Amino acid sequence: MLSRLLGIDIGGTGIKGAPVDVVSGAMPEPRRRIDTPVLATPDEVATIVLAIVEVFAHIEGPVGCTFPAIVRFGWVRSAANVAPSWIGVDAARLFSDRCEREVLVINDADAAGLAEVRFGSAAGRSGVVLMLTLGTGIGSALFTDGVLVPNTELGHLEIDGQVAETMAAGRVRKSGGLSVEDWAKNLNRYLNHLERLFSPDLIVIGGGVSKKFDEFGHLLDTMAEVVPAALRNDAGIVGAALWAGDQVEISNSR
Ligand code: BGC
Repeated sequence: MLSRLLGIDIGGTGIKGAPVDVVSGAMPEPRRRIDTPVLATPDEVATIVLAIVEVFAHIEGPVGCTFPAIVRFGWVRSAANVAPSWIGVDAARLFSDRCEREVLVINDADAAGLAEVRFGSAAGRSGVVLMLTLGTGIGSALFTDGVLVPNTELGHLEIDGQVAETMAAGRVRKSGGLSVEDWAKNLNRYLNHLERLFSPDLIVIGGGVSKKFDEFGHLLDTMAEVVPAALRNDAGIVGAALWAGDQVEISNSR
């Protein structure tokens, strides 16, 4: 089994990549980041993915890559915060053809969750773990005893007619000019709704706001323990590489 794999995290503002030691979760080399053009097309993104793969050409094996939308068997099935032309694109095939390497694609929050469950704030925790990434949108990853239920898309739940993403994403705090208290009130409403649906044992808050958890964590009132993500900005890269490693193991064991 290869112990170092390349992970790439595609986000709305930047595409980042680095080799990951999939046994320890460490990133032994500095990551590379390239800006994502606004509403980038599949072709533009594939060009950036190739540029990152070329920087780390010495890392063998399949490449793991996140994408901020529903991804099923490599195909993009939604486009809430990306260009609509992504819907129906086989991203795994597009990136693999462009890079002439196998590239495996996973939803960004699912990847971040995998990293937190294996090496971060949820490591060693059994039961139901819910990871939420609060950034431009809200991403979600749901685990039961460490096993992922992919593409849960809980940022698109409606609460009293309002889409969760538009009330509790990290971006809303700034764009809506909300005080920390008002934003935390929205987040609390959202978390309480999720608790009624899933009764999680642990909720991990990731995304840009996780750095400021000290400012709002004490304002949350939930049954479940709520903790900030440990891997911060690296969770997507680490999770993408883990995902690629897992897929190789699964296909080898068949
Ligand atoms: C998308 C999700 C994604 C999340 C965070 C949402 O708008 O629908 O697929 O995980 O944003 O990027």
